[in-house]
Amino acid sequence: MTDYTMTIGGKAVTAATTFDVINPSTGGIAGACPSGTADDVNAAVAAAKEAYKTWSVADDEVRAQACRDMSAALTEHADELAILLSLEQGKPRAGLGADFELGGAAGWAANTAELSLPVEIIQDNNQAKIEVHRKPLGVVASITPWNWPLMIGVWHFAPAIRAGNTVVIKPSPYTPLSTLRMVEILNTVLPAGVLNVVTGPDSIGPVLTSHPDVAKVTFTGSTPTGKRVMASASDTLKRLTLELGGNDAGIVLPDADPKEIAEGLFWGAFINSGQTCACMKRLYVHDSIYDAVCDELAAFAANIPVGAGSDANSVLGPVQNATQLALVEELIADAKANGGRVILGGERAEGAGYLHPLTLIADAKDGMRLVDEEQFGPVLPIIRYTDVEDALASANALSVGLGASVWSKDLEAAKKLALRMESGSVWVNGHGGLNPNAPFGGVKQSGVGRQFGVEGLKEFTCMQTLHA
Ligand code: NAD
Repeated sequence: MTDYTMTIGGKAVTAATTFDVINPSTGGIAGACPSGTADDVNAAVAAAKEAYKTWSVADDEVRAQACRDMSAALTEHADELAILLSLEQGKPRAGLGADFELGGAAGWAANTAELSLPVEIIQDNNQAKIEVHRKPLGVVASITPWNWPLMIGVWHFAPAIRAGNTVVIKPSPYTPLSTLRMVEILNTVLPAGVLNVVTGPDSIGPVLTSHPDVAKVTFTGSTPTGKRVMASASDTLKRLTLELGGNDAGIVLPDADPKEIAEGLFWGAFINSGQTCACMKRLYVHDSIYDAVCDELAAFAANIPVGAGSDANSVLGPVQNATQLALVEELIADAKANGGRVILGGERAEGAGYLHPLTLIADAKDGMRLVDEEQFGPVLPIIRYTDVEDALASANALSVGLGASVWSKDLEAAKKLALRMESGSVWVNGHGGLNPNAPFGGVKQSGVGRQFGVEGLKEFTCMQTLHA
């Protein structure tokens, strides 16, 4: 079995102990991960702090080229990384799976290279010259989840590095191996200490997020952990970008064509087996087309093969871990007990691994746990409405607001309703599509700050106003 190592200051670092990473497709072992300690976190932060001295003053073009080089390295090693990602995360390589994630990671790094933050001239006359400069912050801590570990890692560290910061990344203990290998590869094109990785249990997270030499934390994960990160960062007033949980609503208006929208609804809800922050997690459908939408969605979903990540025939894979699977099963059981009607899937076959069939629950209602809580798995509740104002009120009723969508043939009416939804992003006749230049993030308890594009890059800088 491969020996995975942390990378600190450009060097491979082992730990005294390791922990097993589970392959969710089989329940077997995917690999042994170094169990880093607080000492490793401190060493990584020290290495990043040292590298910051030169990286923060490196020429802008050098930092842009570093992003291009990272993109090229990710592309060159895409095959190897996709195999490893699929092994530990569970997603198949096909479709919107592991190969797609690697393509996205490389694409985002390349796009980041071309972003820039030129000096802004506020005033330039014989009274005064005032300029606003964007400067890096220092050492950035990046903490990533287990659903899209490589792509989200790149979303964190590419703009941080582009802006002149240095980074310590700590991946989820569920999917650390692909990040360890990715960082090792990227260290062949980056100066030592610019990008470091430490792995270990959740308990090393707070060591990083409270470290006095960390200037900023960029975190993607659940809302409860995000709150803990915010608290631990308060002592030293660290800058924060928090991309947290959601419970995205979709609203289908009565004029939509059920057959036409079925495919979009399906992928909006089930990409990565529903384990995506901005997946559609509640679907509100007008009474007049409710049954037709349920039928079309079930017919489309029934043809999507779900299986092991290593099986070339699989289009969607397992739930990533046992805890998440237990939550999905609990929410389905609760929905059934409270009047939910299973129109697809519903019951897991016995066997190894964390595979769960794609599941659609009709006759779902607000107040059911499956509707009110984030399921983060392959199950979608479908709720009937008669008055669109009620659907809108339900969509906006929760404390989270990451994404939302409206489905209709009337684009103007759909846009009008979309703009009344309380979410950081909203889509018309689609759900969850991202663009590297379009700001992405949550409102309410779905997060703080924005990723992507110039707005995202700015979050890795501070302003300095020069009066000369
Ligand atoms: P999680 O919050 O359990 O873990 C995320 C990361 O935080 C892991 O690396 C974990 O080790 C680390 N961590 C745990 N406790 C910590 C602490 N006290 N201090 C610092 N770090 C700590 O989330 P998860 O289960 O890995 O991911 C699923 C959640 O992430 C879902 O709620 C999902 O909606 C959300 N998510 C959001 C986005 C987004 O962009 N908004 C993207 C992906 C996932």
